[in-house]
Formats: sequence, C-alpha cells, structure tokens
Amino acid sequence: MPLKLAQAVQEALAQGYQLRPDAYRFLEGLAAEADPATLVVQAVVAKRARGDAEMALSRADLEQILPRPPEEVEVVPAKDISPAEIPSEVEIVRDPTTSVHPAAGGEAFALLFRSRYYKLLAIARQRPDGHQIQRVVSVKTGAREGTKKIAGLVLAKRIRRTSTELVLDDESGRLTVIAGEEGVARAAADVALDQLVIVDVVSGRRGDALATRIYHPDIPDHVPSFAKRRVYAVFVSDLQVGSRMFLLEAFQRLLVWLQGRGGDEAIVRRVKYVVIVGDAVDGAGVYPGQDADLEEPSTVRQYERLAQLLEQVPTQMSVLLIPGNHDPTRQALPQPAVPREHAEPLARLPNVYSLGNPAVVRLHGVQVLLYHGQSLYDVVATTPGLTFEKPAAAMKVLLKARHLAPMYGGRTPLAPEPEDQLVIEGVPDIFVAGHIHTLDAEKYRGTLVLNCGTWQAQTQYQANMGIRPTPALLPVVDLATLDLVVRDFSQPSPGRA
Ligand code: ZN
Repeated sequence: MPLKLAQAVQEALAQGYQLRPDAYRFLEGLAAEADPATLVVQAVVAKRARGDAEMALSRADLEQILPRPPEEVEVVPAKDISPAEIPSEVEIVRDPTTSVHPAAGGEAFALLFRSRYYKLLAIARQRPDGHQIQRVVSVKTGAREGTKKIAGLVLAKRIRRTSTELVLDDESGRLTVIAGEEGVARAAADVALDQLVIVDVVSGRRGDALATRIYHPDIPDHVPSFAKRRVYAVFVSDLQVGSRMFLLEAFQRLLVWLQGRGGDEAIVRRVKYVVIVGDAVDGAGVYPGQDADLEEPSTVRQYERLAQLLEQVPTQMSVLLIPGNHDPTRQALPQPAVPREHAEPLARLPNVYSLGNPAVVRLHGVQVLLYHGQSLYDVVATTPGLTFEKPAAAMKVLLKARHLAPMYGGRTPLAPEPEDQLVIEGVPDIFVAGHIHTLDAEKYRGTLVLNCGTWQAQTQYQANMGIRPTPALLPVVDLATLDLVVRDFSQPSPGRA
C-alpha cells in the first residue's frame, strides 16, 4: 500500500471510521499531489456536522469535500449539451403561502411562543453539549451545586452599571440570571428579547443565579451542498417598481445582459436562476406621504409593469419571487405570496415562481433561505456595533439566533401563527435578504450570507436615516462553489465592481 494511502486509512481508523471499498478505490485514484489523509479528516468533520451517525466513509462522503475545478463540474460533457439546455432544478422546500392560519384570541401569541421555544430547544439540543440542557426549575438558587446548563426565551433584559440581568422562561418556570463578569455581561447585553439563549449558571453567595457563559443555538460549521454543474444564480431585491426612484435604465441593462447581449458569455450562458427577495414593487400607502414618491400609484399597474420587465428574462431561467413590506399582501410575518388579483400578470409567465416570505428552496441541490429582511432594522437598532453599511453582519445575528425575527413588538409585525414558521430549522447553504438597499456578503460557518442591495436610487427617507444605498450592483453566485462575483449596471457600459 502506498504510504499516503496507508496514512489515510490510519487517519480514518484513528477517528473511529472505516473506509468503504469504493472510498478506498477513490483515494487510490487521486492525483499524486493530493493528500488523502487530509481529505479523510475533512470528510469526517463534514459527516459529523451533518449529524450523519454512520461510522464508515463512502466515496460520496469524500467527493463532497473536493474542490471542483470548472472542467470537472460538468457531469455531462460540455459538447453534449449546451448550457442553455441545462434544465433548471427548483425544489420548493418551504412556502408559507398555504400554511398560514393565524389563531385568534388572547392565547394566540402564547401558542406561537410555545412553538418557538420547543423548536429552538430541539435545535439547541443538537449542539455537541446540548444533551446537558436542564429545566430552569432544576436550578435551586442558594444551593451550592456545580454548573448547570439551561435554555430559555429571554423575557426581559436589564442592563445595569456593573451587570446585565436576563429573565429566562422555559415552560417549566422563570429564572433571573445575573451576568456580572465583563465578557458574559457583554454577551448578555447583545441578546435580543424573545430569542432563545443557552446559559451556564452557578449559584451565587447571595442565593442568586450567576451566568458564567451565554451562547446561541447557532448553525454548525458545515460543508455546504454544491451544485454538480456550474450554474449561476443572480439575486435582486428592492426594485420598488412604481417609485419615481426606480432605476429603470439600469434594470433594462441587466435584462439585456441576461439575454446574452451584453457580453460576459461564460457566465450568462449558465445563469439558471433569477431570485427576487421582496419589494419588487413600491406599493401604495406603505408610509405617510408615499403618493408624492410614486410615478405609478396603482399597485395593479405596478405588477403589470413588473411582469413586462420579467417577461424579458429568457425562459430557460427560473424566476423566484417573494414579497416584502412594500408588496400588497399581509404585512405580518410570515407573508403569503402576493394574491392573484395582483400577481395575475406574473402568473401568465411560465418561468416565474411566486412564493411567500420567508421561503426555502433548493436550486440545483443548493438550499437557499429567502427572506425579505424586515427585522434587520430592529437587529441593527438593538445590537451594539452593527450598522446599515454591513447588513450581512445583522443577518448573521439571525442565523446565530436560528430565528428570522426574534423581537416581538419592534418594527416587525408578527402574525399569531400556532406554529412559528420563522425559526431557521434547516441550515441554509445560502441565506439571502434585502430591505437594507446595501449589497453585502460574507461566509459564515459554511453558509453564504448575502444582502442584495437595490435597484432604486436613494430616497429622502433613507437620506434621513443615514442609509447610503448601493444601487444596480448584481451579485452572481456560482452554485458549484458558492463563490460570488458582482456586476455593475449603474453605468451605461457594465463594468465590474
Ligand atoms: Zn423592504
């Protein structure tokens, strides 16, 4: 057995794993410069991160780890199929349109928060130390016991000069925990109301419960799913069609580019998805005095205009669309898709999927969480250190909380659904939002976090809020690698940002 291969087998055994014969043959066939032992370690980490308990590595486990050079991504040789003929592969995993059934009465929100608690507790229990989580009633204040781990929704937060207090509720009861040590107090101050946190507590001398560590359900560090072919998705949001500030010319340049008449052929030929994450139109009556900002005050005609634009997207591309706070559908989250009386012109287009907000889809096997981003204002306003220039950082706060709109009673209306559909249950490969009108992206624990910017010039409202938008920049994501490039349509000749 060659030395490198022997090392790989040893490494697998040391980790407690067997190599299946197909995995062994795969390692044998690797190029000489490859490092099979490292590959094995990465595959083990990825398998554990997926929660896959099987203690044997297969060829598929190993293949998932390998970077894919362009020529190897194509399963079908390029000469046999032109990229234009690659069918799009859209799988709708979650769409609230058919699942919204708000409850009535005083108990309605209690049901929502119970559902939130149990869903987030299940996620917290999947953490490596999650099995240690106990009920808050098990914490006997005053008794000298060791560290206990508890988890609960944050009912109240009081920031004092030398400490921060959190009141946690976990259905078994309520407990006030005091974060006094500097780092822990800061972590407590960052916590959003109504989110679930996990806290290590000890009993203090005065019979109080002292927090020694505070953390979030979070997403695991993971290897994302990649498309097996090189295909691209482009993301847009906040077009605000109907607004006087909608950048029609820039959007027309984007359409010309998608039609393959603007160069950039290597990418454009492989664009399979155009994803619109809300505020496609500007709506009407969304804020006081909006009429003065509208070029087209009828929301029905705004949708007709939108359809006229989307009709120009080549039909081999799938267009996916969710509503935002400007679209004419229920404002409280989760939002069902824009209803038929408005969306009729879109429904006539064969390649358009109109979904609710938030929605989860798989595009060529890549799991994408689509969310307009209504709660991002609340997150920026209540988390120290965050700004509107870096919306991806605010989106990371939501991923860590595993919830799209933790704060109840902020600027984000929530519907009293008996099931909390805003919990981030699956781990997305791409988490995309808009609403802030600023393009921003970063990778977080394997997930691409992306805020799409806008196709509207700066409004007076944004100027007052100190928001400087980045209009007409297009993020283009290679679904085979989750790498991102940006195209700039703000000027007549598309340049590169
Ligand atoms: Zn918005």
